[in-house]
Amino acid sequence: HDGCLYLYKSEAQFRAADAENGLRERHGVAMERLDRADIQGMEPNLAPLYHKGVLFRDAYVFSSPRQLAFALAEAVISGGGEIVRGEVSAIEPRDNSICLRVAGRQILADHAVVAAGAHSRKLTASIGDRVLLDTERGYHVLFPQAGNLLSRPVCYPEHGFYMVPMADGLRAAGTVELGGLAAPLNPKRTAMIRDGVKMLLPPAGRGSDEWLGFRPSMPDSLPVIGSSRHLPRVTYAFGHGHLGLTLSALTGYLVSQLVAGQPPAVDLAPLRPDRF
Ligand SMILES: Cc1cc2nc3c(=O)[nH]c(=O)nc-3n(C[C@H](O)[C@H](O)[C@H](O)COP(=O)(O)OP(=O)(O)OC[C@H]3O[C@@H](n4cnc5c(N)ncnc54)[C@H](O)[C@@H]3O)c2cc1C
Repeated sequence: HDGCLYLYKSEAQFRAADAENGLRERHGVAMERLDRADIQGMEPNLAPLYHKGVLFRDAYVFSSPRQLAFALAEAVISGGGEIVRGEVSAIEPRDNSICLRVAGRQILADHAVVAAGAHSRKLTASIGDRVLLDTERGYHVLFPQAGNLLSRPVCYPEHGFYMVPMADGLRAAGTVELGGLAAPLNPKRTAMIRDGVKMLLPPAGRGSDEWLGFRPSMPDSLPVIGSSRHLPRVTYAFGHGHLGLTLSALTGYLVSQLVAGQPPAVDLAPLRPDRF
């Protein structure tokens, strides 16, 4: 809970960010504007390439999304749920239920939720719903020995990635690549992240693990949360782009309301699956 730092290398960059930071401020996002000395005091290991910065005081970071996923899985099991590993190959209507074909089994349910991220399009198409879902690919490089060099996530918007201290080291993550689901990891992207970290946080070293992830993205940057037009017993929840972890709990809450037939706490009209 130590906030998140955005850094700018010049007065021109800092001023250019005013419009979006002003918008955040009008929506109640707490922020503190910082000068060079403030930044150096907060993050002494950064190369002093910054001119000014903004601290988003209320931002927080999950030190391990993996542990979060395990904790959620354990909660499902201790609540009486079952986790079936395998790819759902089809979702089919039955008289008064939905049938999922997965791992050689057929699972019958009153209701199904499609939350397969960027892969959801294949499943919606099998049901007959067309959604304009694509993927914004993103990358990370892990620096296992550098987890203690920063006290909070740091981002230079100019470079397009964040440096985040996490349980397993420092993760430098970001960039956007429109390249679909099939193409392999593009090493030019991870080299760009490595070079950026070398310049901005020299003691971080070379880094090891490289990762390519698929942000599930819609043309208007809003997720899809709503019922299938063809099968009302199927609810869609995908397309959260850059903010899928941030919005996961709220999405789960809204989906639970839809499945229970309750009015959702948020107007879901802008998120309907057939808006394009
Ligand atoms: C580099 C990078 C940095 C990011 N940083 C942040 C961040 O700081 N904060 C934030 O909020 N978000 C961040 N995101 C975005 C976030 O990761 C995504 O928005 C989020 O993972 C989407 O969640 P999801 O559950 O919809 O999809 P996913 O996380 O992709 O999960 C979908 C799951 O469905 C499974 N699946 C797919 N098809 C099938 C099938 N047919 N049958 C069974 N299972 C299937 C997949 O295997 C996968 O496990 C980042 C993304 C990237 C790439």
